[in-house]
This record gives sequence, structure tokens and C-alpha cells, in this order.
Amino acid sequence: MARVNIPTFKLNDGRDIPVLGYGTWLGMDEDFEFSAAGMPKMNEALSYAIDIGYRHIDTAHLYRMEPEVGKIVNKKIQDGVVKREELFITTKVWHHYHREADVEVSVRDSLRRLNLDYVDLVLMHWPMSISQEGVDEKIDYLETWRGFEIVLQKGLAKSIGVSNFNLEQMKRLLANCKVPPAVNQVEINLNLGQKDLVDYCSTHKVLTVAYSPFGTMVPSRSAPNSPEPKLNNPTMVAIAKKYGKTVTQVTLRYLYERGIITIPKTVTLSRVLENASIFDFNLDKADIEKLAEFDNGFRTVRPIFWQDFDNYPFDKVPGKMEIPEALRIWKNGMNLDID
Ligand code: NDP
Repeated sequence: MARVNIPTFKLNDGRDIPVLGYGTWLGMDEDFEFSAAGMPKMNEALSYAIDIGYRHIDTAHLYRMEPEVGKIVNKKIQDGVVKREELFITTKVWHHYHREADVEVSVRDSLRRLNLDYVDLVLMHWPMSISQEGVDEKIDYLETWRGFEIVLQKGLAKSIGVSNFNLEQMKRLLANCKVPPAVNQVEINLNLGQKDLVDYCSTHKVLTVAYSPFGTMVPSRSAPNSPEPKLNNPTMVAIAKKYGKTVTQVTLRYLYERGIITIPKTVTLSRVLENASIFDFNLDKADIEKLAEFDNGFRTVRPIFWQDFDNYPFDKVPGKMEIPEALRIWKNGMNLDID
């Protein structure tokens, strides 16, 4: 069987994090409905990923995948494929659990669903606090962060971090915390370089994890009006050809060379291997400069239904929308989760 060898970066708490992980968000359809139909394929792909050498798995309470991740991981440990301490498992706390004491409740629930004693990293999924009913609870993320520090102290998570924090929010958190976040997980891809945020975090020893690393490059995400580069972009194709790699591999390698961790999602076995086969070449300076030119600030993930809530981290755009139910209630909804 093919094998990949994924290097690690050092977190500010001294622990190692593999620079590329397997993302487990199955996504939602155009009507913002969640479907579990893709789970069997994802289970197969995740199992294959561990077999070939992935050690970092990114999941979240929201993703409904914690029970599946737990089953697969525990089976791999039982079968002797991997040891628990070789894995790096991340989960996230959703908007409903932002009171200091609720963070521990959320993490313990995640551990029960995952059937694990600890996670390697737990993230505050977003800085806003919103109830299941869609009410703005206006809880300061500094209060929530104190809950994360407790979870760390209790050993339920080995490292703690945040996600979707903007520059101002990172500055405020770093100025007001006992334990600094180990990472900030945000959207980064060729269109959305986030240089200021990445530079600030790097200066303050907070690693950046890029979600949606392909942005709108891939067919499932690209629309007629979405910006270049698409997979067939001539500049990208020429660069990829030069190194004997694919356009997606060049993209992930570029982010790695920027010191950024990536967590691409794929349910396609050949792509599981392809995405992690990026550690045997270096991009030339001239190519890095060409890739940097695609940065135009375009966001793939733009949840306009949260933009009037306190601590929404992105710039606001015209438009209004109710919060999709699939992002508010799922335990009592499709009952895909273990409650
Ligand atoms: P990605 O950028 O990983 O894109 C996923 C899409 O790319 C899928 O359609 C997949 O297709 C396709 N794809 C993957 N690899 C290749 C390849 N080599 N060639 C061509 N197409 C490819 O987007 P995501 O939004 O899923 O982000 C990745 C992960 O980040 C998520 O799974 C989740 O873990 C995390 N995330 C975190 C967020 C947060 O708020 N913190 C928000 C969003 C994501 P297919 O599966 O059919 O192969």
C-alpha cells in the first residue's frame, strides 16, 4: 500500500501537529440542508487515510462525524495500525456552548461521541454565541476562552485554540488570556491569503490552520462568477506541469511553504493520497510570486445569516437570511448524532 510521510510543526505549547490533516465536514447542499448520504464514503476515505499515514483528523460537533471518527480511530488502534499517541484529533465547540461552564459539557459530550479519553486540540468554532433558537446570547469570547483553559487544565484536550477569529479578535484574546491559543483555524486558499492575520499569528507563535484550502477552485464550489484560479487555469496548469504535480498539490504545497497547516476534505481515495503527496518538491520563488497574485480577498465561506450577531468576524455584505436549521439544531433534528 502507498504511504505518505507528513511532517509536523511545533505548537506554542511544545506539542507537534501534523502539517496536513483529513477534514471531515461533509458540507451542505444549496438549500443549506445537511445530508448524511456521504458518510459511508467518508468513513472509507478516512480509514484509508489512516492506513497510508495521515495522523491528523479535523472534526467538530457540528459535522455529525464524531461517532464515525471515533469508531474508525478506535478500530485502527485495536488493529495495531496506529497508536493513540500518534494521532492528532481536533474537535470544536459550537455556538450553543459559550458559557464558561458549558465548554466542558461540550467537550465531554464530544469525547463520549468519539469514545476517546482526550482530544489533541479543541477549538472555539466561531467567536459568536448563538442559542439553538437562533438568539444572540452575546457572551464574550473571553469568557468562553476561560472554559477552554479549564478543559486544558483537566486534560480533556491536550491543546486549545480558536477558529474564525479575525485580527482584532486575536489581538484582544492574546492580551486577555492565561493560555494563548495554539492555533487559529480560518479559511485560507489562493483567493484568500489572509496575510495580515497569518503574519500576526506567526509573530505571536499561534499557528494557522487553513480550512477550505481549495476555495472555489474545485467544481463542487466553483460558480460561473467565482474568481480564478479554477482547476484548468493556464498559470496553475503550467506550474503543476513543471513539478510533475497536480494543481491541487501545488496549492497545498504553497500553503505549507507559507507555514500554514491544511486540512483538505475528500471522500475520493485517489485524492486522499494525492493531497498528502506534496512533501517531495519545493516551489521556486517566481512560482510563489505568481501564486500570490491570485489573492483578491474573495471568501468561499460567507455565512451572511450570522452577520448581525455580536462578534461576527468578517466584513458584512448586503443581504439577509435566516440561520439554516441544520446549523442550529441537529441532535433533535435528523438524530444522526449520539445525543
Ligand atoms: P476543501 O477546500 O477541502 O474542498 C473540498 C472539495 O474539494 C470536495 O468537493 C472534494 O471533492 C474536492 N477535492 C479534494 N481534494 C481534491 C483534489 N485533489 N482534486 C480535486 N478536487 C479535490 O473544503 P472544505 O470546506 O471541506 O474544508 C476542508 C475542511 O476544513 C473541512 O472538511 C473541515 O474539516 C474544515 N472546515 C472548517 C471550518 C471552520 O469553520 N472551522 C469551515 C469549513 C471547513 P471529493 O470529496 O468529492 O473528492
